[in-house]
Amino acid sequence: MAGKEQRRASAKTPAPAPQAPTVAPKAKPVPEPPAPPAGLFPNLGMNDETAAFGKMNSGDRSKPIAGIVEHRTESPTMESARNSYRGQVAKGSSVGAHYLIGTDGATSLTVPTDKKTSHVRGNKDSDWKGANAWSIGIENVGMPAKIDGDKDVHKQVAGLSLPPAMRERLLGMDEAALKTQLEDGVEGGKRQYALHTDIPGPQKRANYNLVNQLTAAHGLDPATQVKAHEQVDEKTTGEGEPIIEFLSAMRDIPSKIAALEARIAKMQADGGPEGAIAGLTALLHREQATQRAIAADKTPAENLALEGEKTLAPEGGSAEGPAHEREQQRVDFYDNFWARKLALDAAATGTPTPGARHQGPRTDRGAVPPGPAGPVH
Ligand SMILES: [Zn+2]
Repeated sequence: MAGKEQRRASAKTPAPAPQAPTVAPKAKPVPEPPAPPAGLFPNLGMNDETAAFGKMNSGDRSKPIAGIVEHRTESPTMESARNSYRGQVAKGSSVGAHYLIGTDGATSLTVPTDKKTSHVRGNKDSDWKGANAWSIGIENVGMPAKIDGDKDVHKQVAGLSLPPAMRERLLGMDEAALKTQLEDGVEGGKRQYALHTDIPGPQKRANYNLVNQLTAAHGLDPATQVKAHEQVDEKTTGEGEPIIEFLSAMRDIPSKIAALEARIAKMQADGGPEGAIAGLTALLHREQATQRAIAADKTPAENLALEGEKTLAPEGGSAEGPAHEREQQRVDFYDNFWARKLALDAAATGTPTPGARHQGPRTDRGAVPPGPAGPVH
């Protein structure tokens, strides 16, 4: 804007006399700003809390980063998790993690990733013994659901919000095996039962974006080098399982979109029912557009586009534009993740997916939508 006005103004006034070339004054040496802590990704909008919690470390790494562990805080809020970290810092303990993700997706770097923290023992998987030297810990704010061992355990588990494969796995056990699976220590002389449930949409989104950046930065295989804590140590059921299942489902989406495209093409070639084809095509286009929005999420360009649309918004009005449209697609996608994934799977294969069974009451946003029509017989 300023440049345009200047040009317009200069058009009206006589051109200034040409100036002698000036020698640029020697730049004063500016003190180098301190390097940001390792693992801080500014494009993710991450908070740097290393000043408060960075001491929760046991020194520099001697090995390159080769793994990520997903944890749950067993505390209900970000602030309660910080309180327990303050306790660790006061004790001089290194028991902690590198990242903390709130249920609203707010993400903090708590310990720089080039330092070790004590977050894993490898009691269950000996390959992970000594893994503190080479792994990153991600803590997710969340409390386990308590199960009453004196009542029907299946019925209680069926009523919880769980990702499909975990639900299938647990409800496929007989009552005694399920009860054993959910044993969670002893309190006041009484055996406790508990499990962690699914994580909310914003926390899914933050995990996906963070794990993407970390696996890319350290050359990790997301399928084999990102683990749930209970896979490597004896821990409460589901501490990381819903997160691992979600990350795996995210990786599965492109192949399901391709399968759906192929199915639609075949239905068209076979002269299939127009209504069903239209329904599947609408679903395909929605999921393709959402994948493009997901791919752009938190990139510097998308962050700039969102900011730019915000500055153009009318006073008191809300920002609008293509970037905000993509933002809405992202929010809706993660909030309804499992319903969307199951609908896509069903549309791609033309059959209900195994995970679609046992859909009991859910505490997240709603049950599986009816979805597009399957093949008409
Ligand atoms: Zn843990």
